[in-house]
Amino acid sequence: MKQFDVAIIGLGSMGSFAALELAKRKLSVIGFDKYSPPHEEGSHGGDTRAFRTVYTEHPNYVPLIKRSLQIWDSLAEEWDLPLLTRSGVISIGDPQSELIKGIVQSASVYNLELQKLNSVEIHKQFPALKPPEEFIGLIDCEAGLIDVPLAITNALKQARQLGADLRINQPALEWTSNKEDIFIDTNQEKISAKKLLVTAGALTSEILASLDLPLVIRRQVLAWFKPYRSELFSPDCLPIFAFAPRGFYGFPNIGGGGVKIAHHERGDPLLGYPVKVPPVDEKDLNSLISDVSKFIPSLINPDQDPLKQIVKAKTCLYVMTPDGHCIIDRDPHNDEIIFATGFSGHGFKFSPVIAEALADLVTAEVTSLPIDFLSMKGRF
Ligand SMILES: Cc1cc2nc3c(=O)[nH]c(=O)nc-3n(C[C@H](O)[C@H](O)[C@H](O)COP(=O)(O)OP(=O)(O)OC[C@H]3O[C@@H](n4cnc5c(N)ncnc54)[C@H](O)[C@@H]3O)c2cc1C
Repeated sequence: MKQFDVAIIGLGSMGSFAALELAKRKLSVIGFDKYSPPHEEGSHGGDTRAFRTVYTEHPNYVPLIKRSLQIWDSLAEEWDLPLLTRSGVISIGDPQSELIKGIVQSASVYNLELQKLNSVEIHKQFPALKPPEEFIGLIDCEAGLIDVPLAITNALKQARQLGADLRINQPALEWTSNKEDIFIDTNQEKISAKKLLVTAGALTSEILASLDLPLVIRRQVLAWFKPYRSELFSPDCLPIFAFAPRGFYGFPNIGGGGVKIAHHERGDPLLGYPVKVPPVDEKDLNSLISDVSKFIPSLINPDQDPLKQIVKAKTCLYVMTPDGHCIIDRDPHNDEIIFATGFSGHGFKFSPVIAEALADLVTAEVTSLPIDFLSMKGRF
């Protein structure tokens, strides 16, 4: 049986970067994925992710954001690829909304750069956006847009070049452990490793069943619209935008592929997951069209059926924890098993820094990165 220092189950967002980081640290790594990342079956589908630098969710994210940004930039330079494009993000809402209040507070506490616009100024600077009169906009100038397929494909490629043995379309079906080793069984082979890293996204609860993790899987819908006034939606004249009501957000028309639109605060829980994820239906799309008409009316041609202006639509999974923060911890029954899950719809930007933290936990007792607040202790 082949033996490794570390085995990884799940090579998506976190697992691909963890494989790279562990291979860089010269460990022998084997990794498995049920599909072939990047793919549309988990939490990283939909082409792009926003990288916000003004973070309202918890103060400890700020140092993680800073470190993550450094790594994204250095990987982009090393690989000569546009992994993270500084597009900016504009958040728009009533000044009393949680979104706007949270951003103002976070920016002032951490001295982060923000540009403030009133409703008229927003529409003047970004004619695609039409906020109600009382709304204001805050631009996070350092924020950007991550190319997900480029990031995952290259993290896996570089990890392989450094010697990681990465198996795609090969699910880890079963694992067992004794005092010394962990054994993983796929339908093709059995291997052993000293440590196990579980980064299996929505399927982590299934793999670590004895932990009874408090995860809820939510089905999110993404739709790409062919813009009617296309000149207003190109990435040179429109940043990523987010409106406070219902967490309605979108990306500019990248590469002419359509304007991606979604709701952060909607999404049906998929009870008893793993279950079949219902495909996108007309009800999902009509709820998006309703906010498009309100906030970005020039996206759709008023003389045509809006449903026919949608070029594609997909589902993607949020893996929610009760408090919206991810969980990074060791299995309380076995210290050699480390896991990271429950990224609650905002994890992708952290992938490279989470990978560093996970590699620290694999190679040492602790990490100097401030991730204690993400352990399970006292939270649930
Ligand atoms: C619609 C949507 C929009 C989002 N927007 C943003 C955003 O703008 N900014 C941001 O930072 N984050 C965002 N996120 C969140 C971010 O994408 C996720 O937090 C992140 O992708 C989670 O990564 P993961 O590694 O946990 O899961 P995944 O990337 O899904 O990886 C898990 C992997 O495990 C594999 N796997 C599962 N079971 C097994 C098994 N038994 N054997 C082998 N492999 C297995 C799966 O095939 C999968 O490849 C968004 C998420 C969604 C759904």
